Amino acid sequence: MTAPTKPPYGTAADSVSERAPGEPLHSPVIDWFDEHARDLPWRRPEAGAWGVMVSEFMLQQTPVNRVLPVYEQWMARWPRPADLAAEAPGEAVRAWGRLGYPRRALRLHGAAVAITERHGGDVPSEHAQLLALPGIGEYTAAAVASFAYGQRHAVLDTNVRRVFARAVSGTQYPPNATTAAERRLARALLPEDAATAARWAAASMELGALVCTAKNEACHRCPIAAQCAWRLAGKPAHDG
Ligand code: SF4
Repeated sequence: MTAPTKPPYGTAADSVSERAPGEPLHSPVIDWFDEHARDLPWRRPEAGAWGVMVSEFMLQQTPVNRVLPVYEQWMARWPRPADLAAEAPGEAVRAWGRLGYPRRALRLHGAAVAITERHGGDVPSEHAQLLALPGIGEYTAAAVASFAYGQRHAVLDTNVRRVFARAVSGTQYPPNATTAAERRLARALLPEDAATAARWAAASMELGALVCTAKNEACHRCPIAAQCAWRLAGKPAHDG
């Protein structure tokens, strides 16, 4: 007798909405990340908090492949915040090259000066202290605290917001600007343990960058396809 055919990704009974919000997603996404994460220099231990911060400034409006060479040169020239702080701001703009939006270079220089003056040259680990640095907003403060210091923060970039919108909220795209409801959801989805939460933040971001992209969601290789609310609903088109 032929065994009944299983749907390729599971059934609606697996839906995340019927279980605790984040827990069923954590292991699949983190395990996928362990296997598929890109080897990027700012993810290596030697990058340190300064490397993470520099990469976050550069990645704000520029894709990874364009950031990589500039990042490498930047870190070779200014391996510590104090090295950059000792230079004139114009040097930072020059080294920014073709990354675009060069105001980011000035902000990064300003942050390096503040780190040198207020924190003895070490990138602070406290979220509030990061947020108080020039040019650092909620996202970057959370990203540095999480990625560099392994803390538990909701790190909401466009990739993460898209994954949560689809997998959890069942909509194709998140709202244009981050909403309070998205922040609540992101906090609710965080693993309890700080180290796992930091891993989850990086992993969910990478999933949005590599698999659940804006134009081509690759559900056939998505580790949470069985639980994805939008896929299970038949992928209704975005109405806004
Ligand atoms: S199943 Fe498809 S739409 Fe849902 S999170 Fe995965 S890639 Fe995105």
